[in-house]
Amino acid sequence: MGKNSVSIGVDVGGTYTKIAILGKNGKILEKKQVPTQSSLGPKDFVSRIAMTILEMEKSLKLRAEGFGLALAGAVDPVSGKILFAPNLKGWPNFDFKKAFSKEIGSRNFIVENDANAAVWGCYVLDFKRKGENFLGLTLGTGVGGGIVCQGKLYRGSAGSAGEIGHMRVAVGGELCHCGSRGCLEAYAGGYGIINTARRMLAESPDKGRILLSLCAEPSALEPRHLSEAAQMGDVLSQEVWAVTARYLAAGIASLVMIFNPDGISLLGGVSAAGRHLMDPLKKELAQEPFKLPFSRAKLRMTENADFGCIGAALLALEN
Ligand SMILES: [Zn+2]
Repeated sequence: MGKNSVSIGVDVGGTYTKIAILGKNGKILEKKQVPTQSSLGPKDFVSRIAMTILEMEKSLKLRAEGFGLALAGAVDPVSGKILFAPNLKGWPNFDFKKAFSKEIGSRNFIVENDANAAVWGCYVLDFKRKGENFLGLTLGTGVGGGIVCQGKLYRGSAGSAGEIGHMRVAVGGELCHCGSRGCLEAYAGGYGIINTARRMLAESPDKGRILLSLCAEPSALEPRHLSEAAQMGDVLSQEVWAVTARYLAAGIASLVMIFNPDGISLLGGVSAAGRHLMDPLKKELAQEPFKLPFSRAKLRMTENADFGCIGAALLALEN
């Protein structure tokens, strides 16, 4: 990446789309958020985003060289088209590169999976490329992931690599949103964690008194309640995080054995659980008998809601 390169990162979310313009060293110069309104179709989306980008560039008095678009789905890095995006109906096979260049002129354009983009942003800005092999897990309602192999994002043959959330950690286990059973996401995704909490609350409600005082009823439970209650000494919430850590450890142990990475970062909202998740997780991993790869892999938790935008913008400047 050239020292004076400026790049645009667009991170398409279910409700909102974030647009950031990055300057030197990945610093955000300006940031905006607009409603995604994916049902209006990709053409409408492109013209709204393009208009915002041109306004932002005008106020900054610059023209960005790169442009990275990140969204949930599988993408073809060669054509830049979306191959599969269950939440963006009618978007696959649309030529974003052509549509955007019509509106804002030709740029170094890429389309990337949003978790891959976020992990790349974390690899460059947070991990600071200390090592060539790096894994990131995005822990939200679902669990996403990204794999950096020998300094490059690993995309796989069909562009769908890095679906760490759908790694099997329990044979015939809990039902995952993907339709399969026993995926890591079914235990470490937001809804999986809540399922664990509800089950444990039904067994021993007394242990979760602080938790229950934070939310009106078990049906309104969210992971943030579990983080807060654990912090306040709620025994049940602390146990829920320990159970979550056990499944995460199983997934991470497999990844460490396969990839022998320099670092693994956990990103996303669940990081609010802090030491209540990290302590049992580190304890589990410390018990692994094959010490070498585990001592090498630095495990950390980090949160920056802009990693998706940042990573997309940085990736656009990589080629
Ligand atoms: Zn799954």
